Amino acid sequence: MSARTKKGPSALSVFEVAQAQLDRAAHVLRLDSSVHAILSQPKNELIVNFPVRMDDGSYRLFKGYRIQHNNIMGPFKGGVRFHTEVHLDEVKALASWMTWKSALLEVPFGGAKGGIKFDPREHSRAELERITRRFTHSLGSNIGPDYDIPAPDMGTNAQTMVWMMDTYMNSGSRELKNAVRGVVTGKSLTSGGSRGREKATGQGLVFVLQEWAKDRGFSLDGATVAIQGFGNVGSHAARILGRLGASVVAVQDHTGAVANPEGLHPKRLAEYVNRTGGVAGYDHGVAIDREAFFAAEADIFIPAALEMQITADTAPLMKSKVVVEGANGPMDIDGEEILRSKGVDVLPDVLANAGGVTVSYFEWLQNRRAETWSLDDVDKRLHGMMIAAYRTMRRLAIEHSVDNRTAAYCHALSRIQTVYLERGIFP
Ligand code: GLU
Repeated sequence: MSARTKKGPSALSVFEVAQAQLDRAAHVLRLDSSVHAILSQPKNELIVNFPVRMDDGSYRLFKGYRIQHNNIMGPFKGGVRFHTEVHLDEVKALASWMTWKSALLEVPFGGAKGGIKFDPREHSRAELERITRRFTHSLGSNIGPDYDIPAPDMGTNAQTMVWMMDTYMNSGSRELKNAVRGVVTGKSLTSGGSRGREKATGQGLVFVLQEWAKDRGFSLDGATVAIQGFGNVGSHAARILGRLGASVVAVQDHTGAVANPEGLHPKRLAEYVNRTGGVAGYDHGVAIDREAFFAAEADIFIPAALEMQITADTAPLMKSKVVVEGANGPMDIDGEEILRSKGVDVLPDVLANAGGVTVSYFEWLQNRRAETWSLDDVDKRLHGMMIAAYRTMRRLAIEHSVDNRTAAYCHALSRIQTVYLERGIFP
């Protein structure tokens, strides 16, 4: 049983944690009860079972999900995850977090999430292509550039998005082919992606961390960092922080953990992980266990892997000043409470990892306008939006005397509530 699914008698499921976070902010905001009820469950829950031919000629049945949480602020939006632990409860939580994230950043999208329960590492490129295309076909008109726009998440990447786009394009009418390029974001640059999208989540995370550092009079130059997960988010955050003079002293992923008090070279480690599939065996550091990783002497802790990692078991070990949530939902309610009692600042997922969906919005805009923005343009706009959201969150945290997550939810929820109350609830 993995650490993520290990549940004590009182442990909540991922979706229950998401609901508890919503309830907490709804209470602070005195959210309208009908709006609260609507937002407490996703609008649509789609589960598809589809067969795919394997390279050896056999067929295997896959289970795919697309959960559309809310679209009052704009089209459903959110990633697609390929992972063995994908399940309905998780995707529902992830979809709701996308709704809050988009509303907090003020990008005109709602929230959704999808996934297929399987291990992409066990499949050839040809099998991955057929799985992706067959899933996209099964989703059919449940996705679309003005309706629901998938993006990469764990286990998927720009290539996955290009296959999804191509499948969707070829399933519709010929004359609309190029008009539907924005059906997915996170595409390769050559197939209509945006500059800066790949590093966007890591970059956005660093932008808010820099703002936090300014607030706290903390210098990132010379700071120490521990990172859980060294995929797209963790490795880009590490490289950007490295350029600012911070040193990554411990990294953990599904293969193991390594530490080096002198600093692990982020670029070299990323190359190693690309080559070998994980951090285990990296020889410019020493192998440590999970407990030692959580107890690492690091000023900054960046969870950038799965949900529910910071819990009553791991939070007491942690020594960091700030936790910046690169992952979605990396801590449960107990873990958060323990960090709060220790005086650790938390920069919550809906803010800290929102750079991804923000640059997805830029990509979608570029596709609609047939434009290509420079990296400088993308970074500047991203910076402006991340900082604005950070400042709003801090203002509300002080105004309501609440933690950052609740404050971030308050902004998202009050924007959504205003629209519901203006439009009325159909019929
Ligand atoms: N999967 C990313 C997230 O969790 C990006 C979503 C998107 O760009 O739509 O935020």
